[in-house]
Amino acid sequence: MTTYAFKCKDIGMQCGFEVKGASSRDEAMQLAVVHAKTAHNMQTVPQEVANKVSSAIRS
Ligand SMILES: [Zn+2]
Repeated sequence: MTTYAFKCKDIGMQCGFEVKGASSRDEAMQLAVVHAKTAHNMQTVPQEVANKVSSAIRS
């Protein structure tokens, strides 16, 4: 089964957060968005950041 991973520092944040073992690209994105809201005080995630997150997600 393919899993998806994401590291916050891959988008240039000084942050040790990572998503591991997400079962889909959407799930990894969702976890990253929730993290951005809670840990990085983003009320909404700008499209530019969403694009960075998307390209940083590895399968
Ligand atoms: Zn982070």
